[in-house]
Amino acid sequence: MPAELVLIVALVAFLLGVLVAVTYARSHAVDAAEASAEPGLAGELLESHVAEGDRLDAGVVDLLDVGVLRINPDLNVVSFNPAAARMLRLDPRATGRRSLMETFVDHRVEDAARAAASQGSAALEVTVSDHEERRIAIRIRRAAGGQLWLMLEDVTELRRLQRIRSEFIDNLSHELRTPLTTIRLLSETLRQDLERADVPPRIHERTGKIEVEIGHLVQMVNELLDLSRIEGGATELHFDNVNLADVIHGAVERLRTFADRQGVQLTTEVPAEATQRVWGDEERLGQLLINLLHNAVKFSGEGSTVTVAVRELDGQMAVEVRDQGVGIPRADIDRVFERFYKVDKSRQRGQGGTGLGLAIARHIAEGHGGRIWVESVEGRGSVFTFTMPLAETPG
Ligand code: ADP
Repeated sequence: MPAELVLIVALVAFLLGVLVAVTYARSHAVDAAEASAEPGLAGELLESHVAEGDRLDAGVVDLLDVGVLRINPDLNVVSFNPAAARMLRLDPRATGRRSLMETFVDHRVEDAARAAASQGSAALEVTVSDHEERRIAIRIRRAAGGQLWLMLEDVTELRRLQRIRSEFIDNLSHELRTPLTTIRLLSETLRQDLERADVPPRIHERTGKIEVEIGHLVQMVNELLDLSRIEGGATELHFDNVNLADVIHGAVERLRTFADRQGVQLTTEVPAEATQRVWGDEERLGQLLINLLHNAVKFSGEGSTVTVAVRELDGQMAVEVRDQGVGIPRADIDRVFERFYKVDKSRQRGQGGTGLGLAIARHIAEGHGGRIWVESVEGRGSVFTFTMPLAETPG
């Protein structure tokens, strides 16, 4: 079978190249993600001091790299430190009061200051420009006596790196998609050809493995593209009245074949009163559920059950995906929603996985104004829960 073998070797060589490229994308995404650890520690510490009414030494504030502005309840600037002067190009010797509006030339800062005056805190990001544009992240805290403290951090470089990361992943995923689709088709045709030919069983086995690995690569590339679009704000949610029960049954049906193959039973607990409509994007909610269900089945043993249940929680609808699988160790539980985080590669029964599914799920849940969390006992199983706001007018 020299022709087929040559093709297989060529395919494997190409796949190796693709893997190297994806791994490169991953490591860069992680590097940039680490660089994006925000907000800065100094700003955070300062904020908690202000919140607790601690007295702050003016000399120390002057040494900080965080811009600090104090404003009175009339929204006039009382004082600022050298870092704030640098960021906003203020003249440190200038005397006389200046308003918040004059300082930032952006009414959103005034609005946020008013919100902080009544609620205690607020945050926003603005662009300031003179000869160059800079992005400044602002956190506002109400201090004792009604004064407001503004903590400023220059995030221009951080945002630039995040944009480069997002563009890089987007371009790479796009470039990988077309050849991967071609290889997938080629390997399918090759398998069909080989079924009719007289070849040793190991050739069938190897082509089967190639197909499985290509499937993993296609999933990885699709998820990378999805995540970078969601994070880059390119994916808009199309909100409408959504029947949650329909979304649940649709997702369960899509996972049925996979569950049957794994020997896992899928059940739903959707009481009649829980078929209420939520306010959401039907397609994205389906994707969220499929990600959770796929994991639940993947990490469950043969003969176990995965259940999707709905209940009301604090005026929202809560959807639970319960499994009786391997569970998640306590030390990893806070990290599973991070991109590329996997607890232990050996637990996946040869299913692969990108470590992106839960990061996407979290973005979707939070984009809907909901929350997502997990409770788990290692060896006993996990319960992933997300909440969704109810639609105002049930239809
Ligand atoms: P993956 O593609 O690896 O499944 P995810 O982001 O969906 O990526 O999940 C991240 C990690 O969280 C998984 O690799 C696994 O270690 C853990 N995990 C997710 N869901 C479950 C579950 N239902 N049971 C046990 N572990 C889970």
